[in-house]
Amino acid sequence: MINLLDIALLNCCTYSCDYCISKASTATAVNYECNGLTKGIYATNGQTLKAAQLLNFINNHYRPDEVFIQLSGGEPLLHDAFPFITEILYMHGYKVIINTNANQIPSMARSLPIDTWPVYWRTSWHRDFRNIEHFLKDIEPIKNGKLLINYVAHPKRIESGIIKKDIEDLEFTGLPYEVTAFQGKWNDKDYDKNTSIYKGIITGLSDKEIPAQECNYISIQTNGNLMRCHKVQIGNIYENRFIERYPQARQLCSYENGNTNCGLVQSLTLLGLINNTNG
Ligand code: SF4
Repeated sequence: MINLLDIALLNCCTYSCDYCISKASTATAVNYECNGLTKGIYATNGQTLKAAQLLNFINNHYRPDEVFIQLSGGEPLLHDAFPFITEILYMHGYKVIINTNANQIPSMARSLPIDTWPVYWRTSWHRDFRNIEHFLKDIEPIKNGKLLINYVAHPKRIESGIIKKDIEDLEFTGLPYEVTAFQGKWNDKDYDKNTSIYKGIITGLSDKEIPAQECNYISIQTNGNLMRCHKVQIGNIYENRFIERYPQARQLCSYENGNTNCGLVQSLTLLGLINNTNG
């Protein structure tokens, strides 16, 4: 059962982690424009998803009660339309997870009431770029919301022994956290989720409300490609291709037919972001 739609809103980030699956870390930091930003922004290609097509696709294929929508990147808060996408999704009943490194939260909290958004925050602590004190300052505006801290048990952290102190620091926060096993290649050795001694420490929200990120998801890449579990391409949202309809595609709706399930389409139509005849 696919119950998670993981969306890469853009391929840029304020950090450049060497274990990044979006490969943001392989890019050059200086003068790389992404979404109009350059300073300190790392990117592979600067692509960003288009909000209207994305929301139209979600509306046509998923009911709010059958899927979690995870907004990822890169760093999703850098996307121009991030607040709009988030607000319109939760206003129409979708369960939204925001997968962020938290670095942009303080500045966003100064202009938007993000502390009141009914969303799940999955904030990653990347200790190479933020010590625990700075990270806690970053998440301060949302710490009373539904929050889960993610920490990657990277082999270099395990081998250096620093992971022990990091987990003590996480415990000390009193906030829910999960430790994710590193998966991939490191120092010519392959790691999967079974080779990390820290695999599967899942606490708080993750075991109850957020689906575990096993192979139960579809991802959308910045070029619009739809991938099953990051491996098999099953369509493209810009080309309106979706060869694996899973779960069942929704019946297309339009603003004029009075279908109350078409709330998202109605909003987009009223905002002039989509044509109301194609759903
Ligand atoms: S913060 Fe996340 S998206 Fe950014 S480089 Fe690190 S792992 Fe990749």
